[in-house]
This record gives sequence, C-alpha cells and structure tokens, in this order.
Amino acid sequence: MPFGNTHNKYKLNFSQEEEYPDLTKHNNHMSKALTLDIYKKLRDKETPSGFTLDDVIQTGVDNPGHPFIMTVGCVAGDEESYDVFKDLFDPVIQDRHGGYKPTDKHKTDLNHENLKGGDDLDPNYVISSRVRTGRSIKGYTLPPHCSRGERRAIEKLSITALNSLSGEFKGKYYPLVNMSDAEQQQLIDDHFLFDKPVSPLLLAAGMGRDWPDARGIWHNDNKTFLVWVNEEDHLRVISMEKGGNMKEVFRRFCVGLQKIEEIFKKAGHPFSWNEHLGYVLTCPSNLGTGLRGGVHVKLPNLSKHAKFEEILSRLRLQKRGTGGVDTAAVGAVYDVSNADRLGSSEVAQVQLVVDGVKLMVEMEKKLEKGGSVDDMIPAQK
Ligand code: ADP
Ligand code: MG
Repeated sequence: MPFGNTHNKYKLNFSQEEEYPDLTKHNNHMSKALTLDIYKKLRDKETPSGFTLDDVIQTGVDNPGHPFIMTVGCVAGDEESYDVFKDLFDPVIQDRHGGYKPTDKHKTDLNHENLKGGDDLDPNYVISSRVRTGRSIKGYTLPPHCSRGERRAIEKLSITALNSLSGEFKGKYYPLVNMSDAEQQQLIDDHFLFDKPVSPLLLAAGMGRDWPDARGIWHNDNKTFLVWVNEEDHLRVISMEKGGNMKEVFRRFCVGLQKIEEIFKKAGHPFSWNEHLGYVLTCPSNLGTGLRGGVHVKLPNLSKHAKFEEILSRLRLQKRGTGGVDTAAVGAVYDVSNADRLGSSEVAQVQLVVDGVKLMVEMEKKLEKGGSVDDMIPAQK
C-alpha cells in the first residue's frame, strides 16, 4: 500500500493516453467523472503550492470501491485545488451532493436553538451521540499535501488557540508522540481518537506521511468536547456523550466551535470558507457544513429488514460500522449519520438525524414485538 501520492514531472514525456489511469474496474465518484478529455485538460496544471491532478486522484485510483459507501475517490491538497481542478471537482461534487450545481450557494446555521427536539432519543437503543466537523486554516496546504513544517505550525497554532478556552471547554492537548501505544489504543477503543492510518483510503491520499508527527488530540476534562489536530483535516471539532441527548451535544458543538473560530480569526488565521463550497475541507464529501452528526444505535431487527437501506436513504441518512468509516457493524450496532453536507445548514442536517433516528427506533421497537413496520416506511425526504 502506498504511503504517499507524489508524482514526477517526467510523466509529461508520455502521452496523455499513456498516463491515463485504468479505471475500468472502478466505482467511485472520481472514476465516473474523470474522462480522458478532462485528464488531458488538467494533467499538466498545478496549484500554487504544487498539487497536481495525479495527486488529486491517486486515492481513487488505488481504491476502486468501498463495501458500504460510494467513496469519492479524490482529495484536495489545498484550497485552490477546488478551483484549478474545477472540471473534475464540479461533477464529483454534483454527483456526491445530490445535484449541487457550480452556481449553487451553501447555507450556514450554527444557532443550536433552531434545532427542534433531540433530547429524547431512547438510550436503551441509542448508545451515544456525536457531532463533528472539520475546519481548514487558510493559507496552509491540507493533510494530503502539507509539509512537516506546515503541519507543525498548524499544531502550534491550535494548541495556543485551544488552551485559551475556558469553562466547560477548558482542556488539554495530548500529542500522539507523547502517548504510549496502550494509551493511544485506549482512546481509539473508547471512540475518542482517530484510528491509526490503516485505512487505504487515507494512506493512498498521502495522509499517513510522517505519522505521528504533529498529530494529537485536545479535549476538555470530561471528554465531551474534543479536537483532533492534523488527521484528515487540519482540525476536527467533536462534541459527544453517552446516551441520546443530541440536543445537548449539538448545543456544545455550536458554542464551542464558534468560540474556536473567533479565537483563530482574532489571531489572524481565519478558516477557509466560501459561499459556494461552505467550509473548504480535504475530502469533497465533507464540503459545506463538514458536519457528521450521528448516533451509535442498536437495530438488530430493523437492520435485517429488506427495506433497511431504502429507509436510510429516504431519511437522507447513511450507516457505518461503529469502529469508524472502514468498519462493519458489530452486534447490530450501527453508526447512523446524515448523508448530506452541502447545500443545507448544520441545523437542518442534525434535524434529519434526530427525526430519522427517532423513527428508526420506533420501528425497531415495533419489530421487536413481532409487529410490522410496513405502514411506517417514510416518504423520501
Ligand atoms: P469521522 O471521521 O466522521 O469522525 P469515523 O467513522 O472515522 O468518523 O470514526 C471516528 C471515531 O469516532 C470512531 O472511533 C467512531 O467509533 C467514533 N464515533 C463516530 N460516531 C460516534 C458516535 N455516535 N458515538 C460514539 N463514537 C462515535
Ligand atoms: Mg474519519
């Protein structure tokens, strides 16, 4: 498995046909969008920091498909990637984000008071609730492409910013380099910390380079508000807790996140954002809100129902295994989260999770008692 995504310039000595990747067995958004014509048009372009089309697509070339989720198959190396390689990213974004057009505008709403309900998901089924997003610090290249110096500078900026938080957000930074293997594994097993770079999707995108240099986790004292530094995005901001109180998780997420944004802005380091793409992040699937709000939920009966997949997609939800994006469900516990990120607001996306999970739990209870859920199948949201 490759640990990098570098490409040399001698490739230009070969014809475009000779360099064009073999995508015949592929099923990801990039492989659908990357025609020979687009490859021809873009392959000799690069962003100001030196990110090329071949760097953009390597992860999707090396990973033809994914058992659970249709993967994206390409990454940005910097904010400018989305512009320089627009001819590829635009169709990928349109395909991944339900027809989102190059002229469309994104919506932001981080006012937690606009969420309706969400404090009553049944904890007998909903084991834990979580909301996360990513943020990129303007002017620094992204994890597939950043240098060691940039990565360390991002870590330094983050420590300074996060250490100035107070009250319920007061916490401490734990760099991976100072952690024993056992400590690291414990945090991973408890679902607080990102996995080691074992996912071929991440590795082929170049995100495992220099591991574990300048990576770490910052969290408040009771581990309900956490920030990952230099994983798949510069920052991943997470609010989580046991049980089904998504309302409280979302409140803490919105308040803490906006405090962090303010601190970075004041220090002269705003986050990358624009009207069309929303928050600019490494993976095109995360553009927009970057938000994944989800629960770990026990659905032993519903998950066996013939319409389980259809119910999820009608509710605009997706499922994962509970060990992270690359894992399968264990003991019928699923990670169920919003499928959309772009074109709708944070509040709207978490609302879909709250309403959808509530319905799915009701269905689960009905099936448990031997009933039928045929009359509960939701309409397409
Ligand atoms: P993301 O990249 O969206 O943060 P991953 O699928 O990579 O999510 O998972 C990262 C970690 O977060 C994993 O350990 C996963 O189990 C944990 N996690 C995700 N959702 C929840 C949840 N609702 N409750 C507890 N842990 C969660
Ligand atoms: Mg992840």
